[in-house]
Amino acid sequence: MTDRSLPEGLRPETLAVRTAVERSQYGENSEALYLTTGFVQPDSETSARRFASGDGYTYARTSNPTVTSFEQRLAAMEGTEAAIGAASGMGAILMMIMGLLRSGDHVVLSRSMFGSTLNLFAKEFGKFGVETTFVSQTDVDEWRAAMRPNTKLLFAETPTNPLTEVCDIAALAEIAHGAGALLAVDNCFATPILQRPTELGADIVMHSGTKYLDGQGRVMAGALCASRQLVTEKFAPVVRTAGMVLSPFNAWVVLKGMETLAVRMKAHCENALTVARWLEAQPQVARVYYCGLASHPQHELAMRQQSGQGGGVLSFVLAGDTPEAERAKAFHVIDSCRVLSIATNLGDTKTIISHPATTSHGRLTEAQRQAAGITQGTIRVAVGLEHPEDIQDDLMRGLSALGA
Ligand SMILES: *Cc1c(COP(=O)(O)O)cnc(C)c1O
Repeated sequence: MTDRSLPEGLRPETLAVRTAVERSQYGENSEALYLTTGFVQPDSETSARRFASGDGYTYARTSNPTVTSFEQRLAAMEGTEAAIGAASGMGAILMMIMGLLRSGDHVVLSRSMFGSTLNLFAKEFGKFGVETTFVSQTDVDEWRAAMRPNTKLLFAETPTNPLTEVCDIAALAEIAHGAGALLAVDNCFATPILQRPTELGADIVMHSGTKYLDGQGRVMAGALCASRQLVTEKFAPVVRTAGMVLSPFNAWVVLKGMETLAVRMKAHCENALTVARWLEAQPQVARVYYCGLASHPQHELAMRQQSGQGGGVLSFVLAGDTPEAERAKAFHVIDSCRVLSIATNLGDTKTIISHPATTSHGRLTEAQRQAAGITQGTIRVAVGLEHPEDIQDDLMRGLSALGA
């Protein structure tokens, strides 16, 4: 609601530390955690006015000052007029679908997007008559060819999980706007530190705060960043009635995480590049996918679009004569780790190693996986903040036993 009286023109690093609602009368330096569902009204007139207008605080499903601080800070970092929190990244996408689409509308998505995102559109909202077309992550012509008169939304994620495929945000924005549709971008992997999609023409930025924004693997959170009009007219009414609201506690954890996002992203990117280059030099490794490497097919676009940084996630491939042999090698390398965590999150200080074919992409058929470029020998590493040589040593425990 009320902005702290900060001077104009502050830079993103400063906004990430300073943007929040006004301090309370106690003058706390670290932002307060308002762990309350209800707000006491001074009198019935004021209460009636607040309920009618939505201004001021009434009930935490509508707004809460700690959640407002999170929203203001994220909007400042993304360079959008407004933002709105959600219970999780998927909750934010649900809010976007409910706010923007109706039965008979058409959406174009990359088929390399986060699996739950694809399911939410095609399976859950397919039931309600929302139509979806899946296209190539990298071929802009496929997006253009998929457009229909009833296309309302294009939704892209860049770079993708786990192969770090990059799409051209500016080109997709042009296609969307040429057809009167909106472009939304899932900015989970790059974060506003590397990439600000609205500066490239996107209309909506979606976040899973669960990942780098929190940065320490503690809480679930999500958000949409957009114009004030979209947030107040399309998204806020959905949260208020459907209830995928961000908890104040989680908002506070992520709010504090965002203060260190810039320094953490720098370290994640440096560590990932170091490990990716090292992996490329290992004879046991058939291929490394990391958009920060010159060998990556969209390296130039990635560098242009992502402030010259590759991000914190990479994948590498162990080749074998059969899928079974490849899986055995991958499991051996993963299970030999004594430092890295076998888990499915990312954006944590702790490096996480995972086997996409049996976890994030486990529900696909072998043929669909092959089409997506994910083999049984593919290993994803979400590089954390440990010393990169300790990460390399941990990977070497398993790699050293494999033939080239
Ligand atoms: C994790 C993730 C999501 C979903 O976010 P949750 O907070 O887990 O609901 C969406 N998109 C991407 C790219 C993700 O990595």
